[in-house]
Amino acid sequence: MSKSSQSIQPMLIDRFGRQVTYVRLSVTDRCDLRCVYCMSDDMTFVPREQLLTLEEISRIGRLFVELGVNKIRISGGEPLTRRNILQVFQSLGELDGLHDLTITTNGTLLTRYAQDLKDAGVTRINVSLDSLDSDRFTSITRNGKLQKTLDGIDAALEMGFKNVKLNTVVLKNRNHDETHKLVEFVRQRNMDISFIEEMPLGVIGDHDRAEAYYSSDQIRADLSKHYDLSATDETTGGPASYYRMPDSQSKVGFISPHSHNFCESCNRVRVTAEGSLLLCLGQEHSIDLRRAVRANPLDDEAVKQAIIDSMQIKPKGHDFDLSRPAVIMRHMNATGG
Ligand code: SAM
Ligand code: SF4
Repeated sequence: MSKSSQSIQPMLIDRFGRQVTYVRLSVTDRCDLRCVYCMSDDMTFVPREQLLTLEEISRIGRLFVELGVNKIRISGGEPLTRRNILQVFQSLGELDGLHDLTITTNGTLLTRYAQDLKDAGVTRINVSLDSLDSDRFTSITRNGKLQKTLDGIDAALEMGFKNVKLNTVVLKNRNHDETHKLVEFVRQRNMDISFIEEMPLGVIGDHDRAEAYYSSDQIRADLSKHYDLSATDETTGGPASYYRMPDSQSKVGFISPHSHNFCESCNRVRVTAEGSLLLCLGQEHSIDLRRAVRANPLDDEAVKQAIIDSMQIKPKGHDFDLSRPAVIMRHMNATGG
């Protein structure tokens, strides 16, 4: 992948002067797990014919890069469950101007795909892991097997990926007492970790989000009993704020949509598996990019203009309140977290 982007003019600027340089593409809303904070246990999934095709996903990624985007994260649902998904990584991996091609995955299929992802030019892998206790893992994911995710992490590390990061959603009384153990896990492997505050997306019957809330400040206070954490201004282009420890290469990040709203510096938009371009994670503002793509199969400029115009409706920020879903009908699996 070329590191040069000299010929590319950044063109995605919103009304508040924020430049969009980062796109998250959700390639499926389906998943082999059912994490309690992400999905309800009786989800209805998008009919396959309503999904963007793999070619459409690749085209959308390319058009965003032509508009100045330099980082694309492939997410879902579980992206590696989408049939022939490597095709998308391979075509995005060839784009000049794309500095970072990343994936967020639950890791269950990494033993099969780590090599191909590396070959396609994937630069970073985020693996979601909320517990190192197999019963807890199964309870949080409603059906998962811890060992599959651990094997996936090993496969990514063996393949030589340097930027493997854990994503951990911290829930009070479910895993909040495991943060120290998880930091030890990443320190032993020279990995990084981000702790995430749960966000209220979609209605989830059997899980009380307000009761499960555990703030980044509480996590940091817990970890400070074991580590000397110092704040850094390092960034991976996402919403996490990072801390370093003097005796380790690992970074500890905090994604704190409630306690430290990160909207001011938002540089991101998302495209759902159905082709909705979401201008904010916690608001409904969107445009129908699938329609724009299908109405203009040969006219890239028309699709790019639709994307440029959408910047006018990017809202100033989200307003999460755990007592109510910010977006009732859209769970995280459909949003492309
Ligand atoms: N299946 C992949 C995975 O789990 O990594 C990718 C999709 S998942 C929706 C992306 C990230 O969103 C995961 O790290 C997951 O933990 C996080 N997530 C899901 N629902 C969330 C919620 N309600 N609040 C905060 N993070 C959430
Ligand atoms: Fe699946 Fe990821 Fe959602 Fe868990 S967080 S249910 S692994 S999409």
